[in-house]
Amino acid sequence: MSPSDIDCTTCGACCFGTHDRYIALMPEDRARAIPENLTNDHDGRRFMKMCGGHCAQLARTDDARLVCGIYDMRPEACRAFRAGSFECMKARQHRGALAEAVRNPAPIRPEIIGPETELPPAHVIASMPTGRMKPPA
Ligand code: SF4
Ligand code: SF4
Repeated sequence: MSPSDIDCTTCGACCFGTHDRYIALMPEDRARAIPENLTNDHDGRRFMKMCGGHCAQLARTDDARLVCGIYDMRPEACRAFRAGSFECMKARQHRGALAEAVRNPAPIRPEIIGPETELPPAHVIASMPTGRMKPPA
């Protein structure tokens, strides 16, 4: 699969992580206007806040796409993550089903998320911002 075949807005898997140090801010991010209240401090390093198993800035559009809510100021780690890369394929393999359950929560699919698992919340936004997770041109 080539990067141009991939529509990240129908995926979002790489924004899902199991711990609160998943997206670390880099020195390059100092120049970006990432509001401090979107990040947490751990041992002097800053990380994007997570919520419900994904970055808290992940947003679901009203047409069931997952997009980055802070695209213009997204961290270096997110910019370096390439659609179609080995890491991308791994994320899709391991977290794609969970992302799909958030992107398209109805009908709830217990075979994927398990009956005891709460659906992670993704806040819904009315329109899709330009973003890393936008359809390829
Ligand atoms: S691309 Fe946006 S939503 Fe995804 S992890 Fe980065 S900052 Fe969070
Ligand atoms: S970069 Fe890969 S894992 Fe991330 S949203 Fe795009 S297709 Fe999905």
